[in-house]
Amino acid sequence: MSVENVLDIIKQNNIEWVDFRFVDLSGRAHHISLPASEVEAETFVNGVAFDGSSIPGFRGIEESDMVMMPDPESVYIDPFTAHATLIVMCNIHTPDGERYERDPRGIAQKAEQFMQTTGVGTTAFFAPESEFFIFDDVRYENSMNSSSFYVDSEEASWNTNRKEDGGNLGFKVRTKGGYVPVAPVDTQQDIRSEMCRLMTEAGLRIERHHHEVATAGQAEINFRFDTLTKTADNLMKYKYIIHNTARQYGKVATFMPKPLFGDNGSGMHVHQSIFNGDTPLFYEKGGYANLSEMALHYIGGILHHAPALIALTNPSTNSFKRLVPGYEAPVNLVFSKGNRSAAVRIPVAAVTPKGCRIEFRTPDSTANPYLSFAAMLMAGLDGIKRKIDPVALGYGPFDKNIYELSDADKREIRSVPGTLDEALNALEADYEFLTEGDVFTKEFIENYIDLKRGEAKSVAIRIHPQEYSLYFDC
Ligand code: GLU
Ligand code: MG
Ligand code: MG
Repeated sequence: MSVENVLDIIKQNNIEWVDFRFVDLSGRAHHISLPASEVEAETFVNGVAFDGSSIPGFRGIEESDMVMMPDPESVYIDPFTAHATLIVMCNIHTPDGERYERDPRGIAQKAEQFMQTTGVGTTAFFAPESEFFIFDDVRYENSMNSSSFYVDSEEASWNTNRKEDGGNLGFKVRTKGGYVPVAPVDTQQDIRSEMCRLMTEAGLRIERHHHEVATAGQAEINFRFDTLTKTADNLMKYKYIIHNTARQYGKVATFMPKPLFGDNGSGMHVHQSIFNGDTPLFYEKGGYANLSEMALHYIGGILHHAPALIALTNPSTNSFKRLVPGYEAPVNLVFSKGNRSAAVRIPVAAVTPKGCRIEFRTPDSTANPYLSFAAMLMAGLDGIKRKIDPVALGYGPFDKNIYELSDADKREIRSVPGTLDEALNALEADYEFLTEGDVFTKEFIENYIDLKRGEAKSVAIRIHPQEYSLYFDC
């Protein structure tokens, strides 16, 4: 889409405000709105100034001026504002016109360009399955106060039936109904359909929506794959629409990986493949799960770098409360077709050359999509370049349910890091695959690690409710 097209959209839709957005290191969007009458072709050349010093992890106060450079390809009409508003995603530049090396969207674009320079292929496709919970305010408050956060699931369900807890005083529809239950267990069909309607109007191609396995209110909506930066833009749109539709319904949506102890968490499995023009490069009939050698090496790169990679794909302290056995979240650094306990799965649906892809199941939606997709691509490309063979390195293929293996067998299998700090240590020791072609800079990685160590510390120094359970009566 050209700048002229955008100016036409503004006129034709009587747009009053143009909302310029950029994304910070944590993956949160920020915005500044200009009256549409002030927006002209020049705005797309000169950009829109903002103060970078107030954004965590961006510049210091002494060099605060930054510029948002709008990307005309990314516009869509905000479904939530009373005043017609056009949203446009921006790249971040310094005042002297250079690309800002900490801009996540810029890093995503650099990763795509880097792949083209390697000659591996022309296009990498990404498709995230970003799960989330929709809580209503009352249930949210109740569950925040309830002991079910801190006890195991059997005890939790017993607790919710206790009379003195105001639990199940008459017949109530159960809140946990297994995978894809219909109404009345699923109370959120309409809200998900409304989210999908708004996403479609905003330009996403919706493939399906459904209730997820956890307690009433876990959901997933799938939209069609696209190239790396476009998919990251699409995920920002997806989360914006989910948060705000929930709000319109008097509810709250969360992408936090593990909001409820003892129940399934929310992942963001990421499907990935590489094409050269129209030719899919991950398919070769006859190999394990019809994977080409290139796909195997890509998997090798992902699994070999996984401990470091996870610092970007699972970048919150809460991420590691999801990565525990028993809840369909991967703990094991192995690959497999079909097996949901493996970090890399080859979906059985991937039987056609074009549909053939790998699914990295570890990530969650606290990841910044631009940084995490770029990092996954860089790990995969390193695997291709160095011909990292996941079979020779003992990463599989592994088709058994790994949760049920004996301890001796499990010892052979490498696990994901257990905490954010462990993942950050791994990143500190293994980041050269990210700095190839200057996609990520060393300075970026160091700054990122500092920022995340601060987060981990802020959690570690606080008193945890479980500590009361363990120690209060000592
Ligand atoms: N919720 C699971 C996770 O944490 C995934 C469930 C699924 O396979 O869709 O990754
Ligand atoms: Mg799912
Ligand atoms: Mg999946």
